[in-house]
Amino acid sequence: MRDSWPRLRVSDFPALHRSGLATLQMNLGYLCNLSCIHCHVDAGPHRTELMDRATMELALQLAQRRGVATLDVTGGSPEMNPDFRWLVERARALGLQVIDRCNPTIIEEPGYEWVAPFLAAHGVAVIASLPCYSEANVDEQRGDGVFVASIRALQRLNALGYGQPGTGLVLNLIYNPNGAFLPPPQDELEQEYRHLLGRRFGIVFTQLFTLANMPIKRFGSWLISKGKFDEYMGTLRAAHRLENAAGVMCRTLISVDYQGYVYDCDFNQMLRLPLGGAATPRHLRDLLEAPFEGAPIGVADHCYGCTAGQGSSCGGALR
Ligand code: SF4
Ligand code: SF4
Repeated sequence: MRDSWPRLRVSDFPALHRSGLATLQMNLGYLCNLSCIHCHVDAGPHRTELMDRATMELALQLAQRRGVATLDVTGGSPEMNPDFRWLVERARALGLQVIDRCNPTIIEEPGYEWVAPFLAAHGVAVIASLPCYSEANVDEQRGDGVFVASIRALQRLNALGYGQPGTGLVLNLIYNPNGAFLPPPQDELEQEYRHLLGRRFGIVFTQLFTLANMPIKRFGSWLISKGKFDEYMGTLRAAHRLENAAGVMCRTLISVDYQGYVYDCDFNQMLRLPLGGAATPRHLRDLLEAPFEGAPIGVADHCYGCTAGQGSSCGGALR
């Protein structure tokens, strides 16, 4: 795989500082049942890195001490971590909101029949990736049969009340482009998703989030190998909007890797850019008492992926 970091690290991206800490995003490991072309985590079925229970305990301790409201659980496929259920149950018992960033096909995998009812029983908000409403586009990006499995999984979630008015069970979908271009306007695409998924499959959902592809890891390598890296960076830079910087997720979120090291966001985690752009990595255990408000954020050229156009964050478009 070709590393895009040397092309990103020297950057004129404007300095950013934290406004606080509301969300702890935990990457439970790089194990996944898929190997998508756009994956910025480089996850797949053969990855063995998984967060252990001691690290989860430390993360919950930090969440409690710092008044964190939301635990945002991601991977890989976070449900493949053997301690996923333990973590969710503990977090809910502590009063934390829990978000599961779920690749919906995991719900259809043998041995994972428990996932959908477990999430519903614990009131976990689901953010499910569905990069297009077209079968051909989804299968091209994520692998053969992924679209059909995703649709079946979403129907299963709907049957449990997810995305249905009045249940409180949130089902948000995620779109990302299947190439080197920016996402279309989120509101318009949401209407298309509602119309097409509803008409063809009877699927309902809460909201659609559009995310820009980050020029890092597998997607960064793909851009380099196709000779499109500079062109894509040019697209991101040309669309940069300074006002989006106020809403980027790193201002209120930290990202924890499977070993308990902490980063300003999931992307910086994948680039091994330590918290605050420091020279050395920082661990959860070093941060139990540290202030976050006003602290610097480690930035580089990939950050243009968050501020381009309508902006992009773990909660979708910024404007
Ligand atoms: S993009 Fe998501 S579903 Fe695809 S390989 Fe990466 S973690 Fe797995
Ligand atoms: S890539 Fe990470 S650090 Fe950079 S702006 Fe986006 S969220 Fe913040």
